Amino acid sequence: MADVSEPGDPALFDKVVNLCKRRGVIFPSSEIYGGLRSSWDYGHLGVLLKNNVKAQWWRWMVQLRDDIVGLDAAIIMSPKVWEASGHVASFTDPLVDCRQCKQRFREDHLAKPDVCPNCGSRDSLTPARQFNLLFRTHLGPVEDEASEAFLRPETAQGIFVDFQTVQQSMRMKPPFGIAQIGKSFRNEITPGNFTYRTREFEQMEMEFFCPPDEADEWFDYWVGERMRWYVELGMSDGALRLRDHDPEELSHYSSKTVDIEYAFPWGWGELEGIAHRSDYDLRQHSEHSGKDLSYYDQASDERYLPYVIEPAAGADRATLAFLFDAYREEEVRGEKRTVLALDRLIAPIKVSVLPLSKNPELTPLAREIHAMLRPEFMTEYDEAGAIGRRYRRNDEIGTPLCVTVDFESAEDNAVTVRDRDSMDQERIPIDRLIAHLRENLAVG
Ligand code: ATP
Repeated sequence: MADVSEPGDPALFDKVVNLCKRRGVIFPSSEIYGGLRSSWDYGHLGVLLKNNVKAQWWRWMVQLRDDIVGLDAAIIMSPKVWEASGHVASFTDPLVDCRQCKQRFREDHLAKPDVCPNCGSRDSLTPARQFNLLFRTHLGPVEDEASEAFLRPETAQGIFVDFQTVQQSMRMKPPFGIAQIGKSFRNEITPGNFTYRTREFEQMEMEFFCPPDEADEWFDYWVGERMRWYVELGMSDGALRLRDHDPEELSHYSSKTVDIEYAFPWGWGELEGIAHRSDYDLRQHSEHSGKDLSYYDQASDERYLPYVIEPAAGADRATLAFLFDAYREEEVRGEKRTVLALDRLIAPIKVSVLPLSKNPELTPLAREIHAMLRPEFMTEYDEAGAIGRRYRRNDEIGTPLCVTVDFESAEDNAVTVRDRDSMDQERIPIDRLIAHLRENLAVG
């Protein structure tokens, strides 16, 4: 059987995309109109999975710490924000056109500088011009320059402009952070690789404000912490690496950036960037708004603009990487199965309740057990088809535990709990079932 379990295997791409389509995890947006290359919809299992990824980020970054607070800022902000931040002038990618096939590419993504990656023509590419990625729109009924606004290209600026309000209202002292999850929009030149690069995506960003002389130390700390998050949620260690940005690659706001990269089926790709933003953003907003955003430290009787360390992750990219990483094809006792070995904390469905067969003697008790488990865990009830097939269907979407109700259950008041990974089956009394599932799921 083809071994597609290794990270970085190109065959994995189609397998995961097909599984996502077949099981309604992620599928093309507006498909009845032929789809839109850069837009994808998350179905029931996909929303559950992505919500779990975001919830785990929030748990790590906010709930388990006393130095980070949350924010949910508006997507459409004052256009002045994007002038101050430098995005109107500098949020660009180098665009080249092929004179032969008329396709467009990002110059920094070309494998060979003078060869068109689509038609292979040599010397047919135009010189690069800077293309601004901001999505422009108009507020209200009049479409003139005064009404122009932008969809945010990053969640970070909402945090910077609210820095003082949050710091004062929450009585935070540097070093402290503000975390935010939300949609961002970029008019990418070449969206692609499924949900890896889209024009509308969700970011999970945290801006950590600290005294300038502590910034380098916090930078290293956050690189380590963020790497640990992926590994603790089950991502293969060998499929992750750190990569320093070259000086010419740095964003306009950054003095130092390290990317956490994952071995995607098409090669290494960024999952998250940890950027040293110095006091660039607070300084820009202080100057442009006329509001002094410096922090007064009572202990040292000093006023300063905090430096910022920013771990910026993508919820869609992380979800995609978790899917690739979890995908396995196995042969067990002569039978083939596909398993998503997702960490239990992010698996979309935690428990599936299955009567051994669709039999009027079994289904009422099975439904009763389902009703009992439902408030505790994300569950599913499935009675259609042979039990083996139903186990396979659950393995394929990563359900860690299946509860099977059989003909003995009414007599011994017990059910069988089957584990996705070991495939072991254990008889558990119904009155201990919730506690047993909780122990085995480690649901936080
Ligand atoms: P790239 O170099 O891939 O264009 P970037 O360095 O511009 O990405 P950042 O500005 O650092 O990306 O954004 C932080 C994170 O947001 C990225 O690591 C990624 O996970 C996510 N992200 C950025 N752009 C996209 C996109 N077009 N589609 C999906 N996720 C994205």
